[in-house]
Amino acid sequence: MSYIIALDEGTTSTRAVVYNVDLQKIEKVINAEIKQYYPKPSYVEESATEIYSASLGVLVESIETVGVENVLGVAITNQRESVIAWERSTGKPLYNAIIWQCRRTMDYCKQIEKTHGEMIKQKTGLKVDAYFSASKMRWLLKNVPEVQDALERNDLCLGTVESFLIYKLTQGKSFVTDYTNASRTMLYNINTFKWDIELLNLFEVPRSVLPRIVSPDSILGEFEYGGRKIKIAGSAGDQQAAAVGQGCFEPGQAKITYGTGMFMLANVGEHYKESEALLTTLGYGKKPVYMFEGSVFNAGSAVQWLRDELDFFKNSSQSEKLATSVKDTGGVYVVPAFTGLGSPYWNSEATGLITGIRRDTNKSHITRAVLEAMAYSARDLLEIMQSEGQIKLESLRVDGGASPNNFLMQFQADVTGCVVDRPIERESTALGAVYLCQIALGIKTIEEIAKLRVSDKVFNPSNEREKFERLYDGWKKAVERCLL
Ligand code: ADP
Repeated sequence: MSYIIALDEGTTSTRAVVYNVDLQKIEKVINAEIKQYYPKPSYVEESATEIYSASLGVLVESIETVGVENVLGVAITNQRESVIAWERSTGKPLYNAIIWQCRRTMDYCKQIEKTHGEMIKQKTGLKVDAYFSASKMRWLLKNVPEVQDALERNDLCLGTVESFLIYKLTQGKSFVTDYTNASRTMLYNINTFKWDIELLNLFEVPRSVLPRIVSPDSILGEFEYGGRKIKIAGSAGDQQAAAVGQGCFEPGQAKITYGTGMFMLANVGEHYKESEALLTTLGYGKKPVYMFEGSVFNAGSAVQWLRDELDFFKNSSQSEKLATSVKDTGGVYVVPAFTGLGSPYWNSEATGLITGIRRDTNKSHITRAVLEAMAYSARDLLEIMQSEGQIKLESLRVDGGASPNNFLMQFQADVTGCVVDRPIERESTALGAVYLCQIALGIKTIEEIAKLRVSDKVFNPSNEREKFERLYDGWKKAVERCLL
């Protein structure tokens, strides 16, 4: 048997996902938690040393499980935007990893948004925000003496997490990043496919400390283990990897991941398009493709809230039974703006609300309204993707922790009028990395990969368009109240 291992380095855990190439299926997942640190309010960090040691640990364990001689390659997918500074000569981290959630550069970003926001959006497809890597890199260069010292000695590397992992796994032989990860730094021009001089100057990041940019389907280096050299091949940021795993290679193909938050990516083709309310990012195709990306901060987290704070049920999956025990929400809407509202509203001050409660409102109505809120949020994104992206979405490819919820999936189809298509294999992120590895190694072509997806269940929209439009109008009114 032959295997490919996807190293899926996420925000709070890192996993090795073992894919059996002969049977074309995932056989095993080995997981290790990664601790987060909050040294000051709004600061979020992780130990870069732990990120590497935990990742190496799960990788080695997975290789041992299948036998090193049977491993064809290792692919990488990762939490995006997070930044690590390390010493080029030793690979030693010079500061903790600054995690994408960290808001330490928020004030600086507000300034830059005013003076350079438009230019940055045109070049990078991104809205200026502390979320992206550029201001984090600038902060490291301005505030950490070890980083400044390494820069002076010409011994500094700055990169996102995949870049650091590849550097370490290849013992410093490969200093690379792929264009999906680069497109989240806010230093990379998604029209010229290069680090952008004007942006490097603005954020005061020297070109010399950044990695070389390669295609996600590249061979990135070799990992030596057990007397063998294993190819590291295939690398992409988690959301773009998931789009590959879902086979979104053509314009109009889109995926939604329902996890703690909700991420929607739609392929809008090979020509750059800009959106007012969404981000444009680079995805993988025969050529690089542009994708509109929308993120809703709270989705599954609202189900968790019902479970943990309101004690409605013990297990998130029980939300489905409760929701279907009533015929509708009885006019109740929940807007779970626990941490403000993400796309398309971008309002960090908004707080959540429940509207339309009456004397007979019970936990089933509220639970149903929480699940419906996820579907309405996706409809908000979908409308913009279609109008600004000039595409027609025929179907929505779904995955993530909440996607087994059949009520949610059917409601999603009904409220968008789109077919919702759930694959058998829902580990889309790891699967996407595995596919990129196979393309890199010449085992499969992109056309062959596109045919591999097998649907588990397809949800067709109801004919009652008017009813669902009315329900959606109610959602928009509830959101308006939240923004007041
Ligand atoms: P992440 O990768 O973002 O940590 P997952 O993809 O594992 O998250 O999804 C976990 C989220 O999905 C949790 O917030 C949980 O409440 C929610 N969830 C899990 N199962 C269900 C379900 N059957 N119905 C609705 N929500 C669910």
